[in-house]
Amino acid sequence: MQNQARPLRMIQKLPGLVNDYWQNLWEGKRAGKLVAWCSGASPHQVLMAMDFEVAWPEGYAGLCSAGGFSGDLCQRAETIGYSPDLCSVLRNAIGSTHGTPVSEMQKLPYGGLPKPDLLLCQPYCPGIYKMWKMYSEYFNVPLLVMERGRIHDALTEDVCALLVQDGIDELREIIAYLERLTGRCLDYDRLAQRMALEWEANRVRMEGMEMCRSIPAPMSMFDVFTTIFPFYLHRGTQTAVDYYQELKDEVAERLANNQGSLIGEEKYRLYWDNLPIFYKSQEIIEKFASYGAVPVVAAFPYVFAFLPDLDMKNPLKAAVEYTLLNPANRGLKGRIDFIQELVDGFTIDGLVMQRSRTCLMFNMGQDDITEALVKKTGLPAVVVEGDLCDPRFYSDAEFNGKVDAFMEILAQRG
Ligand code: SF4
Repeated sequence: MQNQARPLRMIQKLPGLVNDYWQNLWEGKRAGKLVAWCSGASPHQVLMAMDFEVAWPEGYAGLCSAGGFSGDLCQRAETIGYSPDLCSVLRNAIGSTHGTPVSEMQKLPYGGLPKPDLLLCQPYCPGIYKMWKMYSEYFNVPLLVMERGRIHDALTEDVCALLVQDGIDELREIIAYLERLTGRCLDYDRLAQRMALEWEANRVRMEGMEMCRSIPAPMSMFDVFTTIFPFYLHRGTQTAVDYYQELKDEVAERLANNQGSLIGEEKYRLYWDNLPIFYKSQEIIEKFASYGAVPVVAAFPYVFAFLPDLDMKNPLKAAVEYTLLNPANRGLKGRIDFIQELVDGFTIDGLVMQRSRTCLMFNMGQDDITEALVKKTGLPAVVVEGDLCDPRFYSDAEFNGKVDAFMEILAQRG
């Protein structure tokens, strides 16, 4: 029998959790709660602690991609003049809002994004600020911006500490604005409680991921990509902690039974670079599985699950450090070192460097990263084309042809 991916039981719980989030979001909106849209990296914790309903347009794009809706939404954005070169995550969001009458919203995935009362953006990648500025004008709502310096390779600890202090000062201004807007004071105990829950979900999720260092890996990185949504949508809640505890238990059970992510032998362990391709996940994982190959680690999940030594007694500092010290926010050398540690630690046989065509951030420096990793590790690499939300940038024939050739190389290496 040909090797197959072994499905996780916890994947079945995803649709219910995703639907719960959207239902709560829309119920909050209808009940008159203030809705804030947040960029993927931003100090969302203060909004949640102040009882805003929070929506993430980038997270919505990931869900639309996984559900197979994002291609149509990207094309909608193009019909009103946006370039197909614009990041597909942004086109997905624009396609779901611009020119969509309320009566049509029901037809969008999850009823679409409810109109925001406020926008909070941390411009973590090129181009994203423009979208948020455009949304501020489109909906005529305030836009709060929190800068994020990049942790370049040459920055000293003292300079990093100054960047953190700048971030805390900016965050205090944002909080003061929110307090004036709502007429309520931020409850710092509540903020710390929510952040502790977010960190706990992170910690448990990461413990599950770390089990993939074992051979065979008890789950694949595509399982990790797929199960990212509860963390993203239920941030700072016990719901997320419980989900990842159950997921970790299931992964630990596999580990105890020496059961890998494949039904069949795990022959090759792969590193996957860049973003997931949600709309093709199942086909890609089965393609790898047919060769006994498993992507067992990727840098992307660490963007949401890394564990700097955060001081929870100082929640503002922790919130700033959480986005600033993120592995995706480092200089080239920092990113190469980070990936190399993963490649060494997870006993990798080959590098699959996915080029997410319209992503300006994860593609930046990717050729240099590939070259450096090949040189430092001696591992073979293959570059495959794809895109997070726009399926027109992905070709089955091209992907399969490249993977076939790559697997021959791995087989020859023995
Ligand atoms: S990180 Fe990439 S995919 Fe995400 S919003 Fe920025 S450009 Fe788009």
